[in-house]
Amino acid sequence: MATPATDRVRSTIRTLGVKNDELLSDCDNTFLTAKLVAEDLEHHHDDASVQDLLDATLDLVQCSHTLRSYRDALDSLAASYQPSSQTTDFKKLLKDHVKDLDDQSPFDPDKHDFVKQFKEAVWKVHHAGEPMPGQEEEEIVVMAGSQALPNKSCPLSGKPVDQLDNPVRSQRCRHIYERDAVLAYVRKHEATMQGRRRTNSNACKCAAAGCPGILVEDQLVCDRSLKIEIREYMLRQQSSNVDTVADFTLLEEEDDDTPLKGSGSR
Ligand SMILES: [Zn+2]
Repeated sequence: MATPATDRVRSTIRTLGVKNDELLSDCDNTFLTAKLVAEDLEHHHDDASVQDLLDATLDLVQCSHTLRSYRDALDSLAASYQPSSQTTDFKKLLKDHVKDLDDQSPFDPDKHDFVKQFKEAVWKVHHAGEPMPGQEEEEIVVMAGSQALPNKSCPLSGKPVDQLDNPVRSQRCRHIYERDAVLAYVRKHEATMQGRRRTNSNACKCAAAGCPGILVEDQLVCDRSLKIEIREYMLRQQSSNVDTVADFTLLEEEDDDTPLKGSGSR
């Protein structure tokens, strides 16, 4: 039975969960930065530094796995906590729960997606298009979506994906949409289909040009990998813009008579 005291304990547990999520999101951003820096280092054949970054990534993957276990343990504690006449040892309760989770699914940092993506990104620097030594068929599938977004703007609102307030991805065809726009689109289609027999031919079609996929409301999700992929896209865009600006500046320095145009526009 919920009492004000139980509610307060549950709300504290939820706050801890939110703090934990912030740390996890920091980990994700650090993985991404490590990968991008490693690519640069690989360009310059600095193998030792690439290896250091890989070691750090493995450590961080282990750390984020632990955070995730605590997150799951906190979630289940928030849902199941009941007051009793005995004092609750929360520390022990959490630790036991995390241990149960770890026993159920042992963790291997080498098999983590971020580690695979790191190795693949570094490999691609000098071996674009070639399969990585020892890479298996199913691993290629796992990593296929990690470096390129299938669409750069929402097919419905036209907004660039890195400016979407609530991006979601269709789990079927991987296209990315603005959440509100795609939900309105799917629901409008549903309304016109009211009372008609469902077939594949009258399902809600993906609005991305040339995509044969269909959209289903409960398969439009924002998973953790979507946010990190959008961030990667944004960072790569920014760095290619910096390169373009640098080239542009070089050109202008060659011709002193050219008046400076558009300075400060970026
Ligand atoms: Zn699609």
